[in-house]
Amino acid sequence: MTDLHIENVVIIGGGTAGWIAAAAMTRLLSPSLNITLVESEAIGTVGVGEATIPQIRRLNGVLGLNEDEFVRETRGTFKLGIEFNNWGHVGERYLHTFGDAGINLANLHFHHYWLRSRSEGSDASLWDYSLHHKAAYAHQFGRMERVGNTSMTGLAYAFHFDAGLYAQYLRRLAEAAGVARVEGKVVDVSLRPETGHIESVTLENGQSIAGDLFIDCSGFRGLLIGDALGVGYQDWSHWLPCNRAIAVGSESTDLLLPYTKATAHDAGWQWRIPLQHRTGNGHVFCDAFTDETRATETLLTNLDGAPTGDPKPLRFTTGRREKFWHKNCVSLGLASGFLEPLESTSIHLIQSNVSKLVELFPTRAFDPAIEDEYNRQVSHEYELIRDFLILHYHRTDREDSEFWRYCKNMQVPESLSAKMDLFEAGGLLYKDPEDLFRESSWVQVMIGQGLQPKSYHAMANRISSEQLTGFLTDVQRLIDRATTDLPDHRAFIDAHCKSDLQ
Ligand SMILES: Cc1cc2nc3c(=O)[nH]c(=O)nc-3n(C[C@H](O)[C@H](O)[C@H](O)COP(=O)(O)OP(=O)(O)OC[C@H]3O[C@@H](n4cnc5c(N)ncnc54)[C@H](O)[C@@H]3O)c2cc1C
Repeated sequence: MTDLHIENVVIIGGGTAGWIAAAAMTRLLSPSLNITLVESEAIGTVGVGEATIPQIRRLNGVLGLNEDEFVRETRGTFKLGIEFNNWGHVGERYLHTFGDAGINLANLHFHHYWLRSRSEGSDASLWDYSLHHKAAYAHQFGRMERVGNTSMTGLAYAFHFDAGLYAQYLRRLAEAAGVARVEGKVVDVSLRPETGHIESVTLENGQSIAGDLFIDCSGFRGLLIGDALGVGYQDWSHWLPCNRAIAVGSESTDLLLPYTKATAHDAGWQWRIPLQHRTGNGHVFCDAFTDETRATETLLTNLDGAPTGDPKPLRFTTGRREKFWHKNCVSLGLASGFLEPLESTSIHLIQSNVSKLVELFPTRAFDPAIEDEYNRQVSHEYELIRDFLILHYHRTDREDSEFWRYCKNMQVPESLSAKMDLFEAGGLLYKDPEDLFRESSWVQVMIGQGLQPKSYHAMANRISSEQLTGFLTDVQRLIDRATTDLPDHRAFIDAHCKSDLQ
């Protein structure tokens, strides 16, 4: 039997995507592979991408990271969710937390009991039963798997970190594990005439690098997947219209919030990401509804600390590659698509796609069945996240600007309108097993954006009104008890993972 195993993998790009791919693949597939990563300091990285979701802890586990060291090295902070301001309604806010509100009872989701209590006159919000909400607004953080010995889960968390330091940290790990880094700019890509597969890339200094499998992590340009192989891009900007961003750092504030803020403006929204040494900010907007000057002004007038540098403009088109894997090339990160940063899903997509690539790792035969399966899985994953993002824009009562009127009235994918109709009809949810976002996320965002179910599930009536009140009170007592001794977020960082480089 001929040995068809892949020996040489070439990664183009040393941003978050390139270094995650290098660090994870070397850990999971080496020593059978030689991995070479080419990056160009002259081109640099996109330099944003500083908020994550809890799934990143799985990647950290795969990489064998010590979490405190990782937070220290990246000057990171902890994240319990995202606060959405002015999205459903100007002046209103809600927190999309990483945890469940309440506790499910007798196989029925908690929100049905809460909806019943509202129908019986309670004015408590869903978040009055959320541990994450209470901890976040008290600026607390601690590691808690479970609340005492109850069935209530503890704090699910992610991180905010400095994107540049994160890439450097991953680079150190990957290089220590044997990844070879080559500095240089790719100026040419050679294809095999008989198959159209990539044979090698040529750098500006004339060096040629050949490989069996090429991973395109070259950012928005898609140097291999797009420029060399001609794979097209599906434009989703009719659903996710923002196409520009201005990013700027600002001096950090005394209060270290354990959550990201996403504040809606007239033609987009602004992020606020707290790090140990600075706050990251950015205004994401659509240039059909405002211009760069006004967008920059909006950003700068809404900072809560003095800017630490010049605002940096970025352009993008929301959407995805027609194919993520084509011939002997797999694209990751921004080269494979971008769904805008509202729910911090891009870094997750990198890690999730690397893990799919490892699971479906090909041989040099590059059987199309493997490529097809990978493309099917990744397309579906993108579409599920896309729908969740569109929900934030579309389910709004805002009609105060042309941008919001467009979002409110746009035609959304059938897959999303079916979900919204089901929830409105009776608080019901359809869970796709491959959806990154769990029921609890859909409920929080649908309720937070103002989508009110007309009814709740009949099973919530199995308990008496007194039992319902007792149950809801118990949930709140548990939350109070769980947060009593929870440390302050900054105190926790100072004790465990404070960066030496303040
Ligand atoms: C405004 C904005 C906000 C974002 N916020 C978040 C967030 O909060 N959370 C999140 O998860 N994600 C976020 N993202 C996405 C996140 O930034 C990216 O997913 C992540 O940084 C990965 O980028 P990348 O590695 O694909 O590309 P890049 O960082 O652009 O890296 C590309 C690499 O390719 C190299 N390269 C390019 N051309 C060549 C060449 N010819 N020769 C050699 N090397 C080359 C470059 O030098 C660089 O090393 C955001 C993105 C944007 C635009």
